[in-house]
Amino acid sequence: MNLPWITPADRLSALPPYVFARLDELKARAREQGLDLIDLGMGNPDGPTPQPVVEAAMAALQDPANHGYPPFEGTASFRKAITDWYFRRYSVNLDPDGEALPLLGSKEGLAHLAIAYVNPGDLVLVPSPAYPAHFRGPLIAGGKIHQLILKPENDWLIDFSAIPDAVAQQAKILYFNYPSNPTAATAPREFFEEAVAFARKYEIMLVHDLCYAELAFDGYQPTSLLEIPGAKEIGVEFHTLSKTYNMAGWRVGFVVGNRHIIQGLRTLKTNLDYGIFAALQTAAETALNLPDVYLHEVQARYRTRRDFLIQGLAELGWDVPKTKATMYLWMPCPPGTSSTDFALTVLQQTGVVVTPGNAFGQGGEGYVRISLIADCDRLQQALQRLQQANIRYQPVLSEVKSKK
Ligand SMILES: *Cc1c(COP(=O)(O)O)cnc(C)c1O
Repeated sequence: MNLPWITPADRLSALPPYVFARLDELKARAREQGLDLIDLGMGNPDGPTPQPVVEAAMAALQDPANHGYPPFEGTASFRKAITDWYFRRYSVNLDPDGEALPLLGSKEGLAHLAIAYVNPGDLVLVPSPAYPAHFRGPLIAGGKIHQLILKPENDWLIDFSAIPDAVAQQAKILYFNYPSNPTAATAPREFFEEAVAFARKYEIMLVHDLCYAELAFDGYQPTSLLEIPGAKEIGVEFHTLSKTYNMAGWRVGFVVGNRHIIQGLRTLKTNLDYGIFAALQTAAETALNLPDVYLHEVQARYRTRRDFLIQGLAELGWDVPKTKATMYLWMPCPPGTSSTDFALTVLQQTGVVVTPGNAFGQGGEGYVRISLIADCDRLQQALQRLQQANIRYQPVLSEVKSKK
């Protein structure tokens, strides 16, 4: 249907198709054909929200004080819980009045930040592959993206020395995310120091997404951008309760860091929304104050799945490095196969859903992302099906030689 008076604005038509939406169509078709899908495609945690959080929400629901519009900037006690949590976790001091802002999920904030700061034509640095909101937000704002192609030989870290001087001079914002979705890469503290030095030199706003702050294993503790001296002068950091606390449906996240950067986002948001239902902010506070034993349980769950799947994939020829964090494995496609072809083959021949790496930008071509969102019994079935369909990784000769 072509209705000229219902033509979306250019900012919508400029967007590349959302691969997850297309994947949904293909999944629906596979289901119609009677396939039992094992969906390891989305980053949607499969566990329940912790019971104390649910109970806090139920009690808060009963309180009429929560039934009206919440304050624009979030409740004072949730903001305090955020800054207390930051201090406990990272020894970073933040002012709950102005240096912390609750969000309707971090995706909302990440995208709206671009609307608040990016003018048409402004240059934004975004790694490729990246979490889609990191480049879609700037695209909606009319920004130009300079992709920083990540490479396995750099451990999927940004190579700051490879960014041309002229590009860095022009750039306004750098979005980045470690531990990373989709690559599961983690960044050492020195990397964050380099990022801060780079941003200060070229006067670039740093936007770090620390969404996997707590999903770390084997004693690894991810670094917060704000631990780095000088970072708060130029940057902000985004968090979500979706992953750590199995609260993806609740839509609770937050941003912390430079108060001027946060102020711009807040100004935009006061024109768009009223923030999070106050009862849910009470529940979110409870989540941030849960004892660590709860975190250890969640971590153990993903760690067990990680070990199980890496072992099983090794038997099929895949050499997937042991991840230190996130709920993902980032796995090379068999040589000569594109991400999309491989994900489609796997879906059609086995009913296992994985995400083609190019959904996260062209830098993800040649890889697929597997989410650890099913228990080991189900992962075992997935492995059996891959084996039955003879879907294996056969390295090319040069790889075999270089390993020797
Ligand atoms: C899941 C995810 C988010 C989104 O979190 P919400 O708070 O649920 O919007 C943001 N960034 C990354 C990297 C993610 O993987």
